[in-house]
Order: sequence, then C-alpha cells, then structure tokens
Amino acid sequence: MESVIGLVNRIQRACTVFGDYGFENALPTLWDSLPTIVVVGGQSSGKSSVLESIVGRDFLPRGSGIVTRRPLVLQLYKTEQGQEEYAQFLHNGNKNFRDFSLVRKEIQEETDRVTGKGKQISPLPINLSIYSPNVVNLTLIDLPGLTKVAIEGQPESIVQDIESMVRSYVEKPNCIILAITPANQDIATSDAIKLAREVDPAGERTFGVLTKLDLMDRGTNALDELFLLKRPFKFMEHWWLTYTPPHPHLHTETQKLNRQQVGNVMAVVTFLMDLILKLTVHLTPVIEGRSYRLQHPWVGIVNRSQADINRNVGMLAARHREREFFAASPDYGYIASRMGSEYLANLLSKQLESVIKARIPGIMSLINQSIDELEAELDHFGRTVVVDAGVQLYTILELCRAFDRVFKEHLDGGRPGGDRIYGVFDYQLPAAIRKLPFDRHLSLQNVRKVVSEADGYQPHLIAPEQGYRRLIERSLNYFKGPAEASVDAVHFILKELVRKSIGETQELRRFPTLQADIAAAANEALERFRDDSKKTVLRMVDMESSYLTVDFFRKLPQEVDKGGNPTMSLVDRYNEGHFRRIGSNVSSYVVTVAEVLRNSIPKAVVHCQVREAKQSLLDHFYSQVGKREGQQLAQLLAEDPVLMERRQQCGRRLELYKSARDEIDSVLWAR
Ligand code: GDP
Ligand code: MG
Repeated sequence: MESVIGLVNRIQRACTVFGDYGFENALPTLWDSLPTIVVVGGQSSGKSSVLESIVGRDFLPRGSGIVTRRPLVLQLYKTEQGQEEYAQFLHNGNKNFRDFSLVRKEIQEETDRVTGKGKQISPLPINLSIYSPNVVNLTLIDLPGLTKVAIEGQPESIVQDIESMVRSYVEKPNCIILAITPANQDIATSDAIKLAREVDPAGERTFGVLTKLDLMDRGTNALDELFLLKRPFKFMEHWWLTYTPPHPHLHTETQKLNRQQVGNVMAVVTFLMDLILKLTVHLTPVIEGRSYRLQHPWVGIVNRSQADINRNVGMLAARHREREFFAASPDYGYIASRMGSEYLANLLSKQLESVIKARIPGIMSLINQSIDELEAELDHFGRTVVVDAGVQLYTILELCRAFDRVFKEHLDGGRPGGDRIYGVFDYQLPAAIRKLPFDRHLSLQNVRKVVSEADGYQPHLIAPEQGYRRLIERSLNYFKGPAEASVDAVHFILKELVRKSIGETQELRRFPTLQADIAAAANEALERFRDDSKKTVLRMVDMESSYLTVDFFRKLPQEVDKGGNPTMSLVDRYNEGHFRRIGSNVSSYVVTVAEVLRNSIPKAVVHCQVREAKQSLLDHFYSQVGKREGQQLAQLLAEDPVLMERRQQCGRRLELYKSARDEIDSVLWAR
C-alpha cells in the first residue's frame, strides 16, 4: 500500500498550488485539517540543524538573526536504494536540484522575493520536496524562530508577528509539535515548550527534542529532562547504574552484564515505571514548575556545531558521530537506541502515519461537505461566461429574455404592478376629468362673452353657430390635460416596473453593465412609446373638436316663439335664458365627449405604451447588440470585480477539494 504520508504530501502540495494556506477569509480550508509536523523553537535552538539531520542533507540557509522568514514546507519522499537524491520546489515547476547548495540559494532568493531584502516575514509558505533513499516519508514545516527582540531593520511588531504565525500552525489539533530546546538552556525557559504547553496542555501531540547535548557542562546530563516523566523514580535509575552488590558472586555476575544488557533491563524498568506513573499521575509532585508532562519521551540530539559546519563536516559523518556519542556516553548509553536524529525521524514518521490514518475519515467528510458548500456558492454566483462571441451573444439574449419574462409577469399579473395601470384608467383619469373647470367656462357670463365676441358687430340671427363652436372647441381643449396626465402616469409605472424587474431578475444580478444597458434601452423605448401615446391621445381630443356630432344638436329641443315659429324675437335672443340654454347644450355635449374619451384614452394608452412595452421593449436593443463585436459583447457581460474574484477563488478551492477527494479515493481503493 502506498504510504498515507505520500498521500497527504500530495494534497498539501495541491493546497499550495490552489492557494490554500489555511489563513484566509471565508473560504473553507483543507490545509488546516491536514496533519503536519511543525518545528518550533527559539532562535538558534537548532531547528534547522534538526531538519537537516533528519534529511541527512545540508540545504538550509544559515546565519545570524532570523534566517527562516517564510514557512518552509519540507516534504520527504523515500525512493528506492541506489537512486539519486534530488530536490524540487513547487514555485519553479519541475526543475530538479541535485546540488543542495543551490537549494539553499533558492530558498534564500524565494524568501526575499516575497518578503523583500529586509528582515520581514511572510506567512506564504515555500514548498520543497526532497526525494532520497536516505529519508523516511515525512512532512515537516520549518517556521521562523521565536524571538524576544526585534533587531535593526525589523519592525517592532516582528516578535508578535512571528509568535502569531507559529501559533497559527501549532494551534491546529492535527499539528504535531516538534519542540526544539537546547540542552544547555533551562527547559523551564524554553520558548518552544512554553508555547506547546499553551496549545497542547496534555502534552499529547508535542515531541520534545533536546539539542546540543554535547554542549552540556561536564558532570551534568539531561537525564532529568529526558526522563521528565519518570523523575520520581530517578533514584532507581541511579541505583541500577551504580549499584555494587555486596555479595562477591553477585558482584562478578553484575560486572559480566555489558552496557547493552543493562540498557535492556533499564528499558523494561522504564516501561514499568512509565506504566506506574500513568496510573499514579495525579500523585506526581510538581517539580520546579515543570509540571508540563509530555506523553511521548524526549529525544536527545547532537547536531553539528558551528565549528563542524565551518570545517565542512558532512552530514553522514555527523550522523555517524552522533550515534557514537550516544553509544559511548556513560549518561545515555543504555538509551542510545532511543536517541539521535535517525530515531527521531522514524518516530515522527510512524506518529505522522498513525495520525493521518486516524484522520482520513474526518478529512474525507470535511472534503465532501466543503465541495457541497462551494458548489452551492458557485451556483449562487452563476458560472463563468465563455469567451466565445457567439456564446456571449446567446447569453446576453437569454439574460434579456429572463428580464423580459419578469417584466411581463408584472404587467400580466403574477407579480404586482400591472394593477396600478388600471388604477390610472379607473380612478385618476375620471377624477381628473371631473375636476375640469367646465362650470366656470360655461357660466352664464362666459357664455355670453364668448358668444358675443364670436358674433362680432352683427349678432347672430337664429342660432349662435360660431359661439357654439368656440365654446365647444375650448371646452374640448381641456381634455388634453387629463389625456397627457394619463400617458405620463402609465409611463412612470412602466419605468418603475422596468427598474423592479431588473432587480428581480436573478440571472442578471452579476452583470451590472448589462443591467445598466438594459435599463437605459428600456427607458429609451418607454420614452418613445410615451411620445407616440401622447400624440395619439392629443389627436383623439383634436378629432373630437374638429368634427362635432351633428346628430346631437339636431335632437336638441328647438327654441320656439309664441307663434310656433322657430325664429325668436331679438329681445328673447339676448335674455339670460337664451345664454343659459346655450351653456347647458354645450355642457351636455361635453359630457358625451367626456364619456367617449374616458373610454378611448385608455385604449390608446394601452395600445401605444403597454402593448408596445410587452411586445417590443428591447427590440431596438436586440438589433444593436446583434451588431456588436466580441470585445464589446464581453464588456456587456462584465461583472462586479469583487464577485469575479470571489468566484475564481471558490472555483480554485473546489478544484482542490475534488483533486484531494480523487487522491484519497485512489489510495483507499488501492488498499
Ligand atoms: P535555528 O536558528 O534554530 O535554526 O538553529 P541552527 O540549526 O541554525 O543552529 C544554531 C547554531 O547552533 C548553529 O551554529 C549550529 O551549528 C549550532 N548547533 C545546533 N545544534 C547543535 C548541537 O546539537 N550541538 C552543537 N555543538 N551545536 C549545535
Ligand atoms: Mg533556522
């Protein structure tokens, strides 16, 4: 079966490719859920040295101050014996580095590329893979060293920034913490242990590593630290190691035991002590404030000293020397098999593998859930528009049609708004007609004035034909006001419905430019319809005054004189009753015309505005869009940049999750 570490390595690399570093805004992150080993420690505690020992290669930048200024995600792949070692960076494709000093240079340059030459830090990881027969499958993350003061050229905030960055890694429950502490320093003051204790109080996922064991003062050893757990039984270890039995026979027997055998016995004893301690853990006294107990045993390490590095001592030689150091040490000899960088690498690999195995079902369900979430969000945004001009044109027309559908629903019912047009015809128009000042216009006084003026120097003989006409014409003119007002009222309702429909057309949401263009085109069309409608209703009013209904007047009762002749005496002709009759005749005529117009104006308005809006609101727009070229079409489909960005991010994240799901599937199926 393929190593599950390899699986996680691939998913981790995919995370970097797809820009998932776990610290982003509202996107679901896969990175955070992947188990990793993070190397934590103070500056110069030996982090880089430990990493190099584990890899067995010299490849990390060195120097004073903060050398590691971006997280380094180091993925180790074990290859077949005899194969050549090489390294690859994710950021420069598949270039193979066989010279590891060039790897160091590349890390330095890539760090500077993002952070600048200054001593800034950045959370953007560098991804380095090393393929070698001499490594175990493992992913380790090297982080900037914890520090207490900023040096020259660094912002004051750097101390806090580094701590936050490190914390963001070690906080995650899937993170295995490799807490590096130099042995020539008091553990109680170790930055790594302080941080680990905060985020992992039970010490379940923290591995303590003591470096620089070789630098301890003569006569002291780190057994206190290495056996922090077993300290209450320390006297037993000493007793075993220094005990000289009084009986001569026993004495010689003991001397026969070589160091290895003592070590074996000690291992059993340590195991038993471990067990006892786990059972009596609550009885353990708090020793010198070191109550922080790790569940895993500490591992001691001897790296190359600065002098070794200066003398170019190779890594393999250093490993060899480390092994010898432990084997020959009177202090650590009996636990030599559980010390050193090789042991540490194997220990970590096993631990990582078991953590990953335990986490796979959880990761899988997280992946499936996130895929659902991302797809839902993408559906909500709408998918990307294709670049092809034909498809773009088609998309635009589809969007216009979607808008048109909503708009029609407003007019035909289904959505509110159309009823307001009927309100104009049923209420506003009759009310406006009723308010027309016919009383004043057809008052006795005005009728007399108009008729007399129309007569001129020669008063009318039989009936005041001209006077009638003038009175009627002027009366009918009043209808122009309500007619135009109806047109305008319907126009504004239609305009409002266009605005609403654009807002309600879900598909259009993401295309602000197209929205604006549709609105402009629709309003322009409505404007045209309004002009046409106005002309029509005004003409209808004009038509009423240009030819009067003769029948109406024929049917009027004639003024009859005493002799039964239809002619009147001149005196009668100018009395009040005469003018009142004229006024009332005109008034009745106006009432019949009002009735006609009250019915025909709505017909004209609907014909010219509402029907046109339903049938050809965007016709002009369609013909213009049809003439556009690719570039202009693309502009029409321009989206809100914030939304485009977000969709792109979601799309990439979705791709990541899908590829991760495939990866895991393939490994699970291969089992
Ligand atoms: P980092 O800042 O935590 O990455 O620390 P480095 O790995 O760069 O080590 C800092 C210095 O300590 C270097 O000069 C190393 O050679 C030295 N050093 C690290 N580990 C050991 C060790 O186990 N023994 C000795 N003698 N020197 C060590
Ligand atoms: Mg370092």
